[in-house]
Amino acid sequence: MKLTDYFLPLKKDKPKEAEITSHILMLRSGMCQQSSSGIYSWLPLGKKVLDKIEKITKDEMNASGAIEILMPTIQPAELWIESSRYQDYGKEMLRIKDRNKKELLYGPTNEELITDIFRNNVQSYKNLPLNLYHVQWKFRDEVRPRFGVMRGREFLMKDAYSFDISEDNAKKSYNKMFVAYMKLFKKMGLSPIAMKAETGPIGGDLSHEFIIISKTGESDVFFDESLLDMQKLFDEIDYNGDLQEYINKYTSFYAATDEMHNPKETQNISGNLIKTKGIEVGHIFHFGQKYSKPMNATITNEKGQNLPVFMGSYGVGVSRLVGGIIEANHDENGIIWPKEVSPFMCSLINLNCDNEKCLEVSNQIYNYCNKKMIDVLFDDTKESIGSKLTTADLIGFPYQVIIGPKGVKNDNFEIKTRKTNKIINLSLNEIFNFINENMV
Ligand code: ATP
Ligand code: MG
Repeated sequence: MKLTDYFLPLKKDKPKEAEITSHILMLRSGMCQQSSSGIYSWLPLGKKVLDKIEKITKDEMNASGAIEILMPTIQPAELWIESSRYQDYGKEMLRIKDRNKKELLYGPTNEELITDIFRNNVQSYKNLPLNLYHVQWKFRDEVRPRFGVMRGREFLMKDAYSFDISEDNAKKSYNKMFVAYMKLFKKMGLSPIAMKAETGPIGGDLSHEFIIISKTGESDVFFDESLLDMQKLFDEIDYNGDLQEYINKYTSFYAATDEMHNPKETQNISGNLIKTKGIEVGHIFHFGQKYSKPMNATITNEKGQNLPVFMGSYGVGVSRLVGGIIEANHDENGIIWPKEVSPFMCSLINLNCDNEKCLEVSNQIYNYCNKKMIDVLFDDTKESIGSKLTTADLIGFPYQVIIGPKGVKNDNFEIKTRKTNKIINLSLNEIFNFINENMV
């Protein structure tokens, strides 16, 4: 993509409405724009990241055996009256009446709707286990929307729902999601820590939050330092194996959010106890028959008995992750995108667009990247050298290939790795090798 053809509305100054780094950087790099409090439009750079996070999430859900569907954003109030959550949800819920005075709502979560789909379509244990998920916009009329997309009112969530014939089987489904979450956050370049958590309005008796560490996080978290090293435990796990063993090992280390923290339990932990701030990027719940009972979602088991199905629900904050990843990956000059979610792999910067040689070499590299399907943003604008380099650091793609008049004269060009800020000098031929080795 050539920058002169692209839509990248950069902002030079620190936006007044933003308090934290990720929000400032998202606005300055033209990733999103607020349309009303806590509601955002996603501009091209932001949309690309959102899509990548969504894809990594879906791929891991599919690998775990979950099946994608799509439920609507607007739900009928009746279902929430059936589960008794219609009143409880209070002012967070956006309630709507249609022209026939029918009460509707913009879904803050989907336990009721999925339970309705289940009871209308599944009656027998033979169809279980089942895990259905979707990625869909949610609305919660948060008291204090802030931190940009991290605490929005409208936000994108991946939510999955599991159905099982027994408590034991439901725990197995829960374990699969636990493992999937450890894997998928890591694939986004993050180091998640799973922590014992409260169940809140979703309800239930077993729940973990997946937290990334950041000083701008909204919640206090406590964990055994050894856990930072335990992520690799989940790398090679096969979903069909015995997951409980791994989870027991992981959860034997202390980790708890503020609400669940108990200093008594931390007295004999093996490593250092760390107290810090964290961002909740995912949350999983096992809640058994909490919704299936009042909503009468029953199945017949092998003995022919009829019983309410056992359920769990599992959320990933897809749009919150865009901000969360920036919180975990930036420096004073801008964003440092992990390769896996970066909107482009590389900035190709032509320092002098009036120099024919520079143009020729830049075009050669640009065409090569396109042929290799490498997503490159080619800065072919007439901006000053300083401004081009500042922009490249701000938008933070993993690599910058810099083409200037001195370089073409000596066949000696600069390539910068954004993460280390290290610059190496390569000939044009070596650049092609570098591209093959690092960007394909
Ligand atoms: P929080 O404690 O941050 O308010 P929650 O516990 O109410 O979140 P869940 O119901 O667990 O949220 O939703 C699943 C995931 O959706 C959360 O882990 C989070 O990543 C994301 N999420 C929840 N609320 C918001 C929001 N207002 N803006 C962006 N993402 C959100
Ligand atoms: Mg939560």
